[in-house]
Amino acid sequence: MNFNFELLINLGYIVASLLFIIGVKQLSSPETARRGNLNSSIGMLLAVILTLLNKDIVSYEWIILGIVLGSLIGAPAARLVKMTAMPEMVALFNGSGGIASLLVGWAVYQVGSGLGIGTMLPIFLSVLIGGITFTGSIIAYTKLAELIDGKPTIFTGQHILNIILIAVTVVLGVFIVIEPTGITHLFGLEAYWLFITVIVLAGILGILLVIPIGGADMPVVISLLNSFSGLAAAAAGFVINNNVLIVSGSLVGASGIILTNIMAKAMNRSIGNVLFSGFGATTAGHGKVVQGEVKPISAGDAYLVLESARSVVFVPGYGMAVAQAQHVVKELGDLLEANDIEVNYAIHPVAGRMPGHMNVLLAEANVEYDKLREMEDINPTMNTVDVAVVIGANDVVNPAAREDESSPIYGMPIINVDYARTVIILKRSMRSGFAGIENPLFFKENSRMLFGDAKQSIQALVSEFKAT
Ligand code: NDP
Repeated sequence: MNFNFELLINLGYIVASLLFIIGVKQLSSPETARRGNLNSSIGMLLAVILTLLNKDIVSYEWIILGIVLGSLIGAPAARLVKMTAMPEMVALFNGSGGIASLLVGWAVYQVGSGLGIGTMLPIFLSVLIGGITFTGSIIAYTKLAELIDGKPTIFTGQHILNIILIAVTVVLGVFIVIEPTGITHLFGLEAYWLFITVIVLAGILGILLVIPIGGADMPVVISLLNSFSGLAAAAAGFVINNNVLIVSGSLVGASGIILTNIMAKAMNRSIGNVLFSGFGATTAGHGKVVQGEVKPISAGDAYLVLESARSVVFVPGYGMAVAQAQHVVKELGDLLEANDIEVNYAIHPVAGRMPGHMNVLLAEANVEYDKLREMEDINPTMNTVDVAVVIGANDVVNPAAREDESSPIYGMPIINVDYARTVIILKRSMRSGFAGIENPLFFKENSRMLFGDAKQSIQALVSEFKAT
């Protein structure tokens, strides 16, 4: 009877895992993404319910308290979070996943006795990867929320310190895994305190991993931390012998690594190069001094430029998210099309502050998917475009990445808006973007600056079109 019950739970876990896999597959296309989200959520609900039926659960009080507390914090946070703060929230979610896995590993170590290598190895991995993910994500959060400077933090000997800390952690890990209780006096420390030292070291490593990464490289480290949170969960799954946790953790780990690769490719960098780029940051240049004249334009004049165009490309960036301009952008796009002007939307893979940020916003505004063009797709046609309208984008259209070898973002592929006949740039000031560097685009002969909040500027253009 007991056996059958466990079999039933494991069969249910397989169904939940299938729902996760189908969900992830459906998330890869905007048309099926909503269904994908729903299927994955149903899978997660099923997994949670089945886990609550586990006969090993001694008492439900703590679980209920956790659910109540988590819901009290999570539900208002998810409802109140602004769309622009979504990336910070994702960073916090990654960190929560990391600390949860660390605590699972720690708890099993604390209450277990005579644990073998088969349990101690995943305990060590869940604590190590979970700890790195937790503190790394907290630093990523503070950088994204601009609570600390986004620039790389470098100090002398950082490289050596990292290597020493990793070596010490691995050595301690080997001792703990092989002899969980036997080594009572390594460096005068009892086994338990060696374990606590690993937790502290993992936390320090997470901080040291993220502080040297700055500016345009953050997307890579955020997707890497996302992957780590999955790997830590998979390790925790092995610790408590929970199949669905192993599967879901591995799925997050694997998809996070794929995303990390996509992000690194989008920056034309290797993952190693991003992670260790901070070492070169002190010697890297800040780019050439930009020369030229800034030419502001009024909404009325921008309307005249747009009205006489045959093809227009919108290039959204983080500023569109801040201004919440996606709906008026769509309205303007429709008006241009009604005037027989070809309209496309060019999406840079790292535009905004999270992967797919621009796609999400434009999908919310019901922009047709076939109008969203990827960078590789739009760039070869850019010199045939009459007007490129840059809506709160900066780093992803910075020609220094193409032209200035001394620029910190040199080599990163950009959307070549400066190849269009005219570029209209919508932003509020001459301030730099996330990477904190100047943008020579604003000084180019064919560039016009439409200063102001992007939503208000686009609204003014819409009014001009409607008035005629
Ligand atoms: P940037 O951060 O380079 O530039 C955004 C621009 O938007 C700013 O220059 C700002 O100028 C302008 N802006 C802000 N608010 C408004 C507003 N209300 N109206 C009009 N303009 C506004 O954004 P990009 O999208 O070009 O580039 C993304 C950057 O973020 C890259 O460096 C990327 O590496 C990094 N990043 C990306 C992540 C991802 O996963 N996509 C994650 C973490 C970092 P002003 O203040 O003058 O208005």
